[in-house]
Amino acid sequence: MATAIRLRPRLRCRERLSRFSSIRIGGAVEAVVSLSSSEVFGDVLDMYHRGEIPGPLAFVGRGSNILFPDAGLGGTLVRFEHGDGGSGSRWHPDGSVDVDAGLSLPALARDAARRGVAGFEFLSGIPGTVGGAAVMNAGAGSRQWSDLCESLVVATGTGGSDILLPQDLRYGYRTSALLEISPKGDPSASQRHNQEKSVVLSARLRGALADPAECQAKLLSHLDYRRSTQPLDEPSLGSVFRNPSGGPPGYSAGRLIEECGLKGRSVGGVMVSPRHANFFVNTGGGKASEFLELLAIVAEAVLKQWGVILEPEVRVWNA
Ligand SMILES: Cc1cc2nc3c(=O)[nH]c(=O)nc-3n(C[C@H](O)[C@H](O)[C@H](O)COP(=O)(O)OP(=O)(O)OC[C@H]3O[C@@H](n4cnc5c(N)ncnc54)[C@H](O)[C@@H]3O)c2cc1C
Repeated sequence: MATAIRLRPRLRCRERLSRFSSIRIGGAVEAVVSLSSSEVFGDVLDMYHRGEIPGPLAFVGRGSNILFPDAGLGGTLVRFEHGDGGSGSRWHPDGSVDVDAGLSLPALARDAARRGVAGFEFLSGIPGTVGGAAVMNAGAGSRQWSDLCESLVVATGTGGSDILLPQDLRYGYRTSALLEISPKGDPSASQRHNQEKSVVLSARLRGALADPAECQAKLLSHLDYRRSTQPLDEPSLGSVFRNPSGGPPGYSAGRLIEECGLKGRSVGGVMVSPRHANFFVNTGGGKASEFLELLAIVAEAVLKQWGVILEPEVRVWNA
């Protein structure tokens, strides 16, 4: 990807994980390395092999889908965190683009609309990165990441890179082959992750050439809808549960929860949002243990009232 300056990874020691999750929950972590571009990913592996950062290595984007543990984590959190600036993407005349893993999805959506490339609008309200979306198969409405994705570049165990195609990725509703082997593992995690090709470095996406004004209008209508239905001004992880396939036709997880009368229900500092029942918000000092207790209460109530098993969409990390 065309980045003007090759910035070295930034290392910080003994940080709070809550700083790196959009719900602001999580205990201490030994070290955090932030990469402004996946071009410097090799430097992180070098730092690890020289013993400058502790293992295991765990890979994240903006932490907008991760519940970190209250007890914290050993090892190093490796964050792909490209800013919202213009670099991190290289566009081609046919509407395809190469994007860095750390590029923010809203920035990518805005850029596509400005250039008159349709299909990216749904990403405008998803506050994650390219890497997180590639792993989660992020989506909204009838659109999802896999509709755009032509290929991914992933790290290999030998310090090089490999290309994965959609057929390798087994994309489904908010799931992918990468999720099964992602985020954090045993003490040799950095090796294991790389051997299993789960570190996303970049992606090749494709949209359709279109009128920029139409793309902008669609993007704005996505954002308006979100602002009117979601608690965007409060810390959350977005949807807590996947929408179930069973239950009354057309009922989302949020509607099942709402009709159990659970909006506003809280455990400590974590509450079922009064605005959107499938969002849990941190009302102040929330803990992972409280989030998980609330999750169990909600899942049990939905099972009792509707006979539907809700599955978490958020990634729950253990200490
Ligand atoms: C207000 C709000 C609204 C949301 N709305 C939506 C929505 O409409 N649709 C939707 O799908 N999601 C939504 N989400 C959830 C979240 O934004 C998405 O899942 C997003 O794709 C996660 O991206 P991230 O960079 O934050 O990933 P993280 O949360 O940092 O990570 C998610 C997973 O991906 C892995 N990962 C991240 N980057 C890499 C990488 N480079 N290589 C390997 N593994 C990696 C992590 O280990 C973890 O397993 C919402 C969240 C919030 C807070």
